[in-house]
Amino acid sequence: MSRSGVRRLEQSVERHSQRFRELRRDLEQLQHFCKGTVLQRMMKCGKAHCACASDPTKRHGPYFELTYKANGKTVNVKVSPEAAPLYRAASQQYRKLKVLLNRLDKLSQTILRHQAKLAQSQRRG
Ligand SMILES: [Zn+2]
Repeated sequence: MSRSGVRRLEQSVERHSQRFRELRRDLEQLQHFCKGTVLQRMMKCGKAHCACASDPTKRHGPYFELTYKANGKTVNVKVSPEAAPLYRAASQQYRKLKVLLNRLDKLSQTILRHQAKLAQSQRRG
């Protein structure tokens, strides 16, 4: 590999590493997280003579559920109205974690690929 080629790769590694370190700092800011989505539902109670049976605006609730997939199955967990904001915030953190991990993964792949080329060029040179 040419000297300028090596330099270009080194610069690329440095640039991507810089971005990697920035994202790693974002990762450190992450708060508690949980997989899934918080759903808010209004429910029918099932009693034939209750107003909820015929009038959708008279349904009971809201009730909150955390729903997520585990082993390919959808899991629903009841969440109290008080806890719902906590779980909602935590599920947002989880999405943020996934985005960050994805970016860190792609950056790592690029950096490793370039470092591998550099390592190879040193052996030949
Ligand atoms: Zn009812």
